[in-house]
Amino acid sequence: MRVGFIGLGAMGRPMATNVVKAGYPVTVYDTNRAAMEAMRAVGALTGTSSNELAESSDLVITMLPRPEDVEKVVLGPRGLADALPAGAVLVDMSTGDPLTAQRLAAALDERGVLAVDCPVGRTVEHAEAGTLLLLAGGHDEAVERARPVLMCMGDDLVRCGGPGMGQAMKLVNNMLAISVAQGVAEALALGLHAGLPLDVIRSVTSKTMAQTAMLDSALPAKAFAGDLTPGFALRLAEKDMELATRLAERLGVPVPVAERTQRRCADLIAAGHADQDIGVLVTAQAGLESGTEGKTES
Ligand code: NAD
Repeated sequence: MRVGFIGLGAMGRPMATNVVKAGYPVTVYDTNRAAMEAMRAVGALTGTSSNELAESSDLVITMLPRPEDVEKVVLGPRGLADALPAGAVLVDMSTGDPLTAQRLAAALDERGVLAVDCPVGRTVEHAEAGTLLLLAGGHDEAVERARPVLMCMGDDLVRCGGPGMGQAMKLVNNMLAISVAQGVAEALALGLHAGLPLDVIRSVTSKTMAQTAMLDSALPAKAFAGDLTPGFALRLAEKDMELATRLAERLGVPVPVAERTQRRCADLIAAGHADQDIGVLVTAQAGLESGTEGKTES
């Protein structure tokens, strides 16, 4: 199976590298020439456009910033939809939205091309290790055709439903995780200002319904140790919250906590925190900017 890979950024490059390492012939394309040259060094062929790459691929993967980028690359002028041969598979692994994914799937279906939406969970480190969480939406035939290539990039594939349901699951998951981070930020800010030690707050909440992996493990491992290098960058979190709240509005579902959390992310981005880890939501609000080493038990 000949694989095309479009979008070689922080995630796409290690993901495409793992497909090459698994032995598939891979042709890559990115508007950034340097990203393509780096892939040539690991054994990929480089295309001159996404359209040209599609003509000679059985399966094309997109890993682009936003759903608008994917829609343009697929349905825009000289787009993939016009170039992919009938019977080919298009797998969008970017974080997007279910309505765009469903629109793409319907347009591709008319041309005999199968569509899978398969956004990924976890981080760049997991992309490098080939241990991403794969959230697959699409018809069974499409997902099964893509599965062997997907499993070069991840170690857990969850079938979420028909077209668009991978994207829906990704937005639901991230909306919850990011909203929890904001909830932890507010609870810690209140507790610390009231005079409670962080250790006591962590100890008690770990034994009640307030228990969350965010406070038990994620924050102590990074932000509380003074490390705000991006495991999950705030700018990506804000983008995901924007997509989730936009979807909620279209579906008529009230999500006031998510809307408030998105505004908080946007405010911190405006204050210069875009490329820090989402742990900054908590450290900034709770007044723990310089890390909390010495304040925790461990
Ligand atoms: P990135 O900004 O690092 O990379 C995007 C790449 O796409 C860039 O190399 C850019 O040059 C290329 N590109 C943009 N438009 C293009 C076009 N029209 N044609 C060809 N190439 C084009 O982004 P990333 O961090 O790799 O994330 C990609 C997607 O994965 C996003 O949707 C993101 O939300 C999602 N994601 C990211 C992470 C993470 O930790 N970084 C984790 C899970 C999911």
